[in-house]
Amino acid sequence: MDTNKKPWPLSTVCGIKERINTNPDFQRPAVWSQPQKQLLIDTIIRGYDIPKLYWRKTGSRPDTYDVVDGQQRLRAIWEFQAGVYALPRDADPVDGFHLASLRYTDLPDELRIQFDTYPLDVVVLSDTDEEEVREMFLRLQNGTTLKAQEKRNAMSGKMRDFIKSLAKHPFFENCRFSNSRYTFDHIAAQMTLIEIEGGPCHVKNSNLNKMYEEQKEFDENSAKARKIRRVLDYLLKAFPEKTPELERYNVISLYAMVSHLLEQYVIQDRHDDIRNWFIQFETYKDEQRKLPEDIRDPLMTSYHDKISHSTDSYESILWRHNFLLEKFFIAFPNIELKDPQRLFTYEQRRAIFRRDNGVCQVKIKCDGVKCEWDNWQADHIIPWSKGGKTVVENGQVSCVPCNLAKSGSQVV
Ligand SMILES: [Zn+2]
Repeated sequence: MDTNKKPWPLSTVCGIKERINTNPDFQRPAVWSQPQKQLLIDTIIRGYDIPKLYWRKTGSRPDTYDVVDGQQRLRAIWEFQAGVYALPRDADPVDGFHLASLRYTDLPDELRIQFDTYPLDVVVLSDTDEEEVREMFLRLQNGTTLKAQEKRNAMSGKMRDFIKSLAKHPFFENCRFSNSRYTFDHIAAQMTLIEIEGGPCHVKNSNLNKMYEEQKEFDENSAKARKIRRVLDYLLKAFPEKTPELERYNVISLYAMVSHLLEQYVIQDRHDDIRNWFIQFETYKDEQRKLPEDIRDPLMTSYHDKISHSTDSYESILWRHNFLLEKFFIAFPNIELKDPQRLFTYEQRRAIFRRDNGVCQVKIKCDGVKCEWDNWQADHIIPWSKGGKTVVENGQVSCVPCNLAKSGSQVV
């Protein structure tokens, strides 16, 4: 990596704005408030020092750059120069000049020159790869307010890529919260860890960091990965519209519940039930909060306690998981377990084959073709995932093309 440090006149940096990318994918979104921006401009006009800017050179002639560090400072400078905001009303004078409420074009010449020629210390990194730049970014951000998920997004590896793609799942858009500071990524990472651990577990930042580190080679087509997408698809079908009850703290529990139910129970067509039940549950919780403490449902008080602090601890996640499942099964006492035996045995297959005379009963792709013993499938008439039992009565002969067509048509 080549580093070149030199002072750039501020007006030059404004002049090549189009060639500077302030949003490479490891950067955080703009979050500076107006007073923070004004303070920076005030500092520059007074000629005080500001921290160095780090850019990575991404192209030559014309030179282009990614901002590694200093994105917010650059934006604040550009916006002020473009007249987007003024200095604060209570700004102190500089060298006898009034600054209060002035915009860039209103600055007295002396101060505008001071601004335009202010030397910005820029470190340009060239001949460097993404990995090195990420590493540098993490170091530069260390000790600042950069949040944990932003740091994880700056890591490399297939787990990070997988979580980033999960965070784009449309289900998240239907939740009440937004993706500011990578909330979607954070929750997607927690869901992934719960799936990898096979159920409730600690989902603290340290646990998520460890997962990113240890699963750098995570296979986005693995059974776990597919399961996570299947649960999110299910949730999207259950909550197809923006749902204010889907809060930051309860989505993870809802995920864990649906993941568990999909694994073991017949909830194939229960999307509406799950939505209605969940909204009722949240409504009941809010009603309880309004009651005087002595007549409140004590379990809802405990639930409230669990969603109020240490929400990412194993204890809280497990308690809420069991609580939601308990409430769910009270509301839907007829939810059935899937038959734990999924495949027909040799004896069952023989009985089915003889009974049907080896003739395909499915007839989606054929008119009832006669199958050879070593080239047919035992098909569940009522699909297994819908609670169909693995019994001869629920089995039928299917030719291979019909079986493929039937299983392909089944959605989540
Ligand atoms: Zn057939």
